Amino acid sequence: MGLNDSSPGAMRNGRALSDQWADSVVVRPRTTERHITVHKRLVLGFALSILTLIVVTVVAVVLSVRYEECGGRDRDGAAGESGSRGSAKSNGSRGERSGDRGDEEAVQPWRNSRLPGTVRPRHYDLRLAVNMDNFTFSGDVGIELECVNATRFIVLHTDRLEVRWPGGAGGRPANRPGGGAMRVHRHFAYPANQMYVVVLHRELKPMRVYRLKVSFNAAIEDELLGFFRSSYTVQREKRYLAVTQFSPTHARKAFPCFDEPVYKATFSLALRHDAQYSALSNMPVESSTPPQEDGGVTDRFARTPRMSTYYVAWAVCNFTYRETQTDDGVTIRLYARPDAIASGAGDYALHITKRLLGFYQDYFKVQYSLPKLDLLAVPKHPYAAMENWGLSVFVEQKILLDAEVSSASYQMEVTMVVVHEICHQWFGDLVTPVWWEDVWLKEGFAHFFEYVGTDFLFPKWNMEKQRFLTDVLHEVMLLDGLSSSHPISQEVEQAADIDRVFDWIAYKKVSHHKIRQSVNTVVKTTVHPTMSLPVLSVCVLQDYLLSHMYGNAARDDLWSKLSQAMRSEGRDIDIGQMMDRWTLQMGYPVVTISKNQSEQLPTHYVTISQEHFLYGQELRSNNSLQWQIPLTVAVGNASSVSAESLIWVHNRSETHRVGQMDDTTWLLGNINQTGYFRVNYDIQNWKLLIQQLHNNPQIISVGNRAGLIDDAFNLARAGYLPQGVPLQLIGYLPAEPSFLPWHSASRALYQLDKLLDRTDEYSLFSDYVLKQVASRYHQMGWPTNGPGGEGNVLQASYQTEELQRELIMLACSFGNKQCHRQAVAYISDWISSNKNRIPPNIRDIVYCTGVSLMDEDVWEFIWMKFHSTNAVSEKRILLEALTCSDNSFLLNRLLNLSLTSDLVPEQDVIDVIIHVGRNPQGRNLAWKYFREKWDILNARYGEALFMNSKLIGGVTEFLNTEKELNELKDFIKSSGVGAGPAWPRALEIVEGNVRWHHLHRRQFYQWLRKPLSSALG
Ligand SMILES: [Zn+2]
Repeated sequence: MGLNDSSPGAMRNGRALSDQWADSVVVRPRTTERHITVHKRLVLGFALSILTLIVVTVVAVVLSVRYEECGGRDRDGAAGESGSRGSAKSNGSRGERSGDRGDEEAVQPWRNSRLPGTVRPRHYDLRLAVNMDNFTFSGDVGIELECVNATRFIVLHTDRLEVRWPGGAGGRPANRPGGGAMRVHRHFAYPANQMYVVVLHRELKPMRVYRLKVSFNAAIEDELLGFFRSSYTVQREKRYLAVTQFSPTHARKAFPCFDEPVYKATFSLALRHDAQYSALSNMPVESSTPPQEDGGVTDRFARTPRMSTYYVAWAVCNFTYRETQTDDGVTIRLYARPDAIASGAGDYALHITKRLLGFYQDYFKVQYSLPKLDLLAVPKHPYAAMENWGLSVFVEQKILLDAEVSSASYQMEVTMVVVHEICHQWFGDLVTPVWWEDVWLKEGFAHFFEYVGTDFLFPKWNMEKQRFLTDVLHEVMLLDGLSSSHPISQEVEQAADIDRVFDWIAYKKVSHHKIRQSVNTVVKTTVHPTMSLPVLSVCVLQDYLLSHMYGNAARDDLWSKLSQAMRSEGRDIDIGQMMDRWTLQMGYPVVTISKNQSEQLPTHYVTISQEHFLYGQELRSNNSLQWQIPLTVAVGNASSVSAESLIWVHNRSETHRVGQMDDTTWLLGNINQTGYFRVNYDIQNWKLLIQQLHNNPQIISVGNRAGLIDDAFNLARAGYLPQGVPLQLIGYLPAEPSFLPWHSASRALYQLDKLLDRTDEYSLFSDYVLKQVASRYHQMGWPTNGPGGEGNVLQASYQTEELQRELIMLACSFGNKQCHRQAVAYISDWISSNKNRIPPNIRDIVYCTGVSLMDEDVWEFIWMKFHSTNAVSEKRILLEALTCSDNSFLLNRLLNLSLTSDLVPEQDVIDVIIHVGRNPQGRNLAWKYFREKWDILNARYGEALFMNSKLIGGVTEFLNTEKELNELKDFIKSSGVGAGPAWPRALEIVEGNVRWHHLHRRQFYQWLRKPLSSALG
């Protein structure tokens, strides 16, 4: 599943610039709804993992393992256990829980938040009748059940369904027809756990198959969960569509089912609807009835493979489509609004999907499982996209692309969303996590493969693969440094908890350190990397997929596959044990490397200590957390740097020998940022590193330059370092030719900008930033190509364009006059000629700058363009530009219009509010508006937890005064909001902001006033 970003992401755009930017800074695909996977970060993950993979392979080669056999060999071994393993595991725990089923009446299994596991579904026959005139549907479902442990109760999930009559039959032995009757004693709903209970007269017998039949009615709600409706306009005529969103726990809102991922079953769907609509589902239509008298037709869909309930999907709409076919005969269709299809806006996604299916099939050596794959572009959806098997649903802004006006970053974003969702057809649909605590098993892989798949599609982007560092690693470390963070694998039982684990930490932390670090560093301990192909690790993945296909897997299954692979090479390492430290405890460590000052040891010894990195100093007393850290270290001086060496850090503090050092050599830790931790040094070492960057930055790798910037700013922010260190460090930026360190710096600077943008001395800061930016900005200039330049992202100069864009953004947002004049000139030209000649890649910057500097007429002009354009990418940046105004009257008007009229699409409302809040002139407005309208907002978005936590995080993250902190506390207290994770996180962030002002602001400005004197003090 693709998330819309829910991060409270502490860093944002520049002054007076739209959030649009902000996002673009933070995560490349900025924009209202950026997919959680951020845009354009490329393939570092892949590259480094490749290294990893490579290393593993080398072992294989060295040890003469015939790796081409790995799949087969392991497959045979594991295939037998795969099916049973997932179920055994789940049944195991559940079985124990329902325990002694001798006294089930007393136990009342429906009081447990998890299903009892005494029966499991094998097949669902689902018949639905959908009425789009009054937005209701009715249905009946026949569920074929297998009894696992004798029981008188059938407990399954329903929510908001009006259940009519359960009935049943069966009792035949498994795999044989016939059998006795199953008589229902009574049945009732147990809403607290969203369950429905059928009590039988007699016990069901183990190993026998029964059939339960339930009828139900429900509404097609105007919301974003279950089976819901939304609308769009075609030539002024409003049209409706209805579509499902079942992940994680909403299939139960559409039909009674065993709505936990481990209860995989096959599904046969028959759907009756008005003939003017068409119906889609996971599988192709097998047969359709001719229209009946009342205009209804019934489409019967082919039976699905075994799958989890939350991947079941259907839609009723009158979209049109374009289609293509893979070489293997899989039909791919992209369905969207007729006008979007006619304009070709879906062609790009269709094209790359076709290539991606082939790519993944080759990569995983596992065929795509279904005869077709539909991509459905809907106007409204709670997530960026949802990977239902064979029917993936995308919000329009994440899949439609208008070649003429879409920027390179938008194209990158669309690409990564598609790459992510298609990967889920394997990691997710085919092999599904046993339970939600291991949701990272699918999300981490899909996120990781964004880089691999994108690299396949556009090898030229490879130049920028290290983007992974700034966009994923640095970002997740920011959130994970909060005490309200949570471990990757966390216990989740209640339905409401389940959305919680879907947050951004699970996605990113996982893709970074699990998949990368696990394989990577483990292998590093055993061999030296040399070049070869990443075959063995690919084998591990293939083996993992083949062993668990059409079933479920838990994290231990992956660890055991890795350990097994290592063992087969004669390396006995318990990967599970090592990784549990990283997955089961929250946060990450900061490693401090200090040159030994004591007399007893020679100078080439260093002291290495670790502690839990936290932004809040007062929270650090709880020092119990400890990690096993694979720390790579290198020593260098003005002209060279040593090869890296690996040190395993196990204790709180250790002494190590690291080679020859004198007063002029510096130490560098976490080479190329492959490890998931921060590194701090003694102040003398920081000075040497800074000196090195100023004199000859290229001695230190690009990845480490970006890493030093990120570490320094965050260590200072958390109070581990004097405020002057990061400021002095970025003094070398005029000599920095690469995009990545600039990107890392701009993220940190925008974050500081939001802390400082309402302070009296703000200009000290913005002047300092502009001073670093000016020379490179002038050198790079503005892009010259107009709109319509074809395939803009495909150009070899892609990285240059990105750096150029980053510099323009920094220059304009921190107030470079020339930048402002250029933006204003572009807007004036557009208005006077009515031709938009602004290069697509920087339109968002120009629009926002124009709106913030120019008069009300420009705002009205942009507002008009927002309504008249049909291109979704353009619409989005126009809307965001409207939030850049410094006129509170206009901002207020925008806020009111977005919530109370149809003029702003419903899912964009949240972005409007957040973006107004990022504008220093709008911060109070948005904060006030948010509190006043909370009841309405919560009612509308409350259950789509991502949207709510995105809203809460977005509106509060830049509050930084005592007064605002108190307002936040009061609001949390009075509005009776539940224990959702967004509130404690928001509170911790705002407390951190206030604390920073209290403890560090003076020192910060002091350094800026006389940067040359007190150096690092
Ligand atoms: Zn996903």
